[in-house]
Amino acid sequence: MAAATEIQLSLKVVMVKESNKVLYAEIDSNFADVLLSFLTLPLGTIVRLLIKHYGNNAPILGSLNSLYASLLNLDSSHFSSEAGKLMLLNPRNSLETECRKLKLQIDDTPPVQYFVCGNWTCASMYYSVKCLCPNSANTMTRTDLEIEEQSDDESVFTEKTSSFLLLDNLQIRTNTLASFFQILKSNGIKDTNALEERTLIVGLKEVNLCNIELLVFLPPLCFITFVFFIYICSHQIMELLKGSLLSKTPITDMVHLISSATATCNERKEFSACYFLPESKRRKQISSDSKRITVKVLVQKSTNRFLLTEACKDFIDLLFSLLDIPLGRVQSLLGSNTCLGSINNLFWSMRNLELLKHIKRIDSLMEPKIPPHYLSLHQVFSLDKKSSPLIYKQQDSNRVKSFGSASPGSGYTQMKMIDPKGEDGFVKGPTTFMVSDDMVVSPTSSTFILKTLNHLKIPIHDVEEKEVEVGLEEALSILKASLTSICALSEGLKPFLK
Ligand SMILES: [Zn+2]
Repeated sequence: MAAATEIQLSLKVVMVKESNKVLYAEIDSNFADVLLSFLTLPLGTIVRLLIKHYGNNAPILGSLNSLYASLLNLDSSHFSSEAGKLMLLNPRNSLETECRKLKLQIDDTPPVQYFVCGNWTCASMYYSVKCLCPNSANTMTRTDLEIEEQSDDESVFTEKTSSFLLLDNLQIRTNTLASFFQILKSNGIKDTNALEERTLIVGLKEVNLCNIELLVFLPPLCFITFVFFIYICSHQIMELLKGSLLSKTPITDMVHLISSATATCNERKEFSACYFLPESKRRKQISSDSKRITVKVLVQKSTNRFLLTEACKDFIDLLFSLLDIPLGRVQSLLGSNTCLGSINNLFWSMRNLELLKHIKRIDSLMEPKIPPHYLSLHQVFSLDKKSSPLIYKQQDSNRVKSFGSASPGSGYTQMKMIDPKGEDGFVKGPTTFMVSDDMVVSPTSSTFILKTLNHLKIPIHDVEEKEVEVGLEEALSILKASLTSICALSEGLKPFLK
């Protein structure tokens, strides 16, 4: 990442004077790249970044915050490997190489490091991993990996010279006269005197006051009655990320420096209980290979209230793996029907044919892949994984190199790449686990069940156990509920209870 003081992005915002709301913002490709990069962030990274930035005031993203916290607190002994737990806590972005070119980065996940075993035969992206050599002490040593550059293309997700019009609800349009007049018309703007322009400078550090003089000489557009400038810091990019998930008007929120959390509490009531796949998609997505997991649910008979869920390691793997799914993939899995603030609009905008001419890697943004080693052997969701990099050791030396998709030529031996979590999954059996309604996971404990029943004042005769089979449709329903509801399991599973 470049030095903090060097990074600034600007956007021109056109406001409706009367309502003091943003009509649209004119953004360049650098800003559009940052915005589109939100779709590449895994859910776990988003939760981690929001907690890191906002501390105790971090917005609550459904049940994902409590799921992440319980992952952090669950003892490493319940995982197939220590590295597996680290992988889940710090999910990798399969487009991290592209995202490192962004002018303003909010994801602070460190770059991949590579480790090799004492025999220089096995390689891993994590330190605490057992190697495959029979007579090795399994000691892994960090090594510098030389990567053969594939391209020197500096653009990330949009063509460098492109500019766009961004609506307050994150719909993105091409910057053309047709788009401009369509926006005015659809908002009933007949007189351009009703509008005013502001220029926002977004950067890692607030700009000095002396910069104001420079900006004042920028020519205002003819239809704007007057122009003034606002200076804001990178905090606003985090506000934009937060707003994209929680607010219907994230750009206005950003301009006003208003927390969007209050507005979204009301919007959450619109949450529709479960996600049912449309029949056509159901036939396509549910194959005979889809894994099904049986879980037991403890409910209060008299109220049908969801108390606890007991499940094996496969279900816990499924829950923790929700944190690895990139936001763009969540949108495509749920048909963009997520009830999240405005990110759905950004996602659907990319289907605009005119816009497609300006956006690169459209498939990667709409269906980002899962990074290598993150998928379990039998997964419920049908997700594509990014291939593990091929790593070669130069014979007669200790140089380790990756050639991307190119051939290494002679003089190189391919190293064995180790799956840090083990092929069977992240969580270790045969222990069973209990999961609360907000997805807090802990090993099954009868003491805990008694405490819960005592605390809720529920007599034993009022409790019954039900069974539910979790396959693709149920898992999608849990995923959808986890984004917006603090009762993710009951919201997600209730419609499927026998
Ligand atoms: Zn080895």
